[in-house]
Amino acid sequence: MELNNYHATPIQSLSENLNNNSFYIKRDDLLPISFGGNKARKAVLFFEDLILKKSDCVVTYGSSSSNHCRVIANIAAAKGIPCHIISPIESSHPTSNSKMIKLFGAFVTNCPVSQVSIMIESKMDELRAKGYKPYFIQGGGHGDIGTQSYVNAYEEILKYEKSSGIYFDYIFLTTGTGTTQAGLVCGKILHGDEREVIGISNARKKSYGSRVVLESVSSYFLSQDKEPFESEDIAFIDDYVLDGYGSYNDKILQTIRDVLINDGIPMDTTYTGKAFWGMKEFIKKKHITDKKILFIHTGGTPLFFDKLEDLNDEQ
Ligand SMILES: *Cc1c(COP(=O)(O)O)cnc(C)c1O
Repeated sequence: MELNNYHATPIQSLSENLNNNSFYIKRDDLLPISFGGNKARKAVLFFEDLILKKSDCVVTYGSSSSNHCRVIANIAAAKGIPCHIISPIESSHPTSNSKMIKLFGAFVTNCPVSQVSIMIESKMDELRAKGYKPYFIQGGGHGDIGTQSYVNAYEEILKYEKSSGIYFDYIFLTTGTGTTQAGLVCGKILHGDEREVIGISNARKKSYGSRVVLESVSSYFLSQDKEPFESEDIAFIDDYVLDGYGSYNDKILQTIRDVLINDGIPMDTTYTGKAFWGMKEFIKKKHITDKKILFIHTGGTPLFFDKLEDLNDEQ
């Protein structure tokens, strides 16, 4: 499996024209490794680091629907590296991702969510005792390396703008653990740009979520020995989280149908479809008109198939 032989992911215009805005989408879902998405973009850099550090197995965590765990398990399998996943028992129902994780031969340890960090420690100790050199990746690919991957994505956006002459007034994305948003915000700060990078939260509330984004930004600047940045307002919107992680409504299903039918692009109810709906609500509420808006498609294609029945049923 070749990890770093890919070009910038495509940016396409969308047929959506709410409030006379022009919408574009950056297709990170088309990143050509294990169904793509932001977890693939992050994983490429984590595996570069793993190889640099001469580690010989990988430990990470996530739920059974985790895109991150699917990508890590896939790349580990390709490289012949054992992959250990700690997974909360509370969210261990079978999904397309969990079935693939099984197919990739990952070793999954289920435990109550409250025990996850203890389980990770004991798994790392156990592997070291067996003579392995385990490499740990935080859930969702959180950390400076994950942040770096979206500084890189930001630079792809700048290149696109330069060659097309199209300048985006806003960048919207789904924000979860906040690493993707942190990377884009770092890119923006490093290049002295003024536009807003707006994270539509799929679960976390603003007080916690925006703090984590800010911590990730600070941590990245520290890790790079870069000049400390002036405090930054993080646009972390929690108005559309509904009942939290995984919850969705009919409007989200309709949004997903519309984008699929009109543009041929799949979205999911947990991340991209939810945030795309939230973005449109936000644009209406804030009366944003006549702007150029870029939405980052952060992937999750297997989750689209998990909800295909619902997309048909509730019409
Ligand atoms: C994990 C994930 C996100 C959230 O990314 P963070 O960097 O954790 O904020 C968004 N979209 C998809 C499809 C994801 O799998």
